[in-house]
Amino acid sequence: MRFSFSGICTLMLAAATLAGLPGSLNAADTPVAALQLPPLPYAQDALAPFVSAKTMGFHYGKHHQGYVDNLNKLVAGTPFAGRPLEEIIRGTANLPDKTAIFNNAAQVWNHTFFWQSMKANGGGRPAGRLLEMILDAFGTFEAFKTAFETAGVGQFGSGWVWLVQDGGKVKIVKTANADTPLAHGQNALLTCDVWEHAYYLDYQNRRKDFVTTFLEHLANWDFAASRLK
Ligand code: MN
Repeated sequence: MRFSFSGICTLMLAAATLAGLPGSLNAADTPVAALQLPPLPYAQDALAPFVSAKTMGFHYGKHHQGYVDNLNKLVAGTPFAGRPLEEIIRGTANLPDKTAIFNNAAQVWNHTFFWQSMKANGGGRPAGRLLEMILDAFGTFEAFKTAFETAGVGQFGSGWVWLVQDGGKVKIVKTANADTPLAHGQNALLTCDVWEHAYYLDYQNRRKDFVTTFLEHLANWDFAASRLK
């Protein structure tokens, strides 16, 4: 079974529950679909031993679910209730009074994107146009890997390292906390979560080992290539 990333976001809405239908049918009482935690694209133990089922249980089942639950609470009764996730992110980015909504919405999106960025027996290198674009930007694939690891390790505190398409080129960016390329007009291709909760149970403090393992055993280059515009 294979879903496109935008398909997963649509599914989140399609699968949303219309809970608590009231007797009244006034427009103000129309129930608004809550965002749902999208299904993982694989079993929780599918990425072991590189990401353990225990890590996935906490990271997907607790952290990702927590962002979904917080977001639903924060948007209830606001114009963002029932709106598509990407619209909420773009509509709250850089607005100081909307930081909490942005942070939770972006973290929902980032995590859904992260699960898609990995697969069992992933890693290696991409092919075709994406490989050509990486070689054009970094010279060699090894140079790309080193730059991705350096960015991941160099993100002080919590955040993300990304391969993005920006205009006609690919580049590596890192974002702090919940920040996301979506808020910067960049097309995300692949991401690695470098918050400690992503790796601490399996790698303790060794973030570089986690990022290297992500590149060598987990990166889903088919997904990244499917995102190219
Ligand atoms: Mn995370």
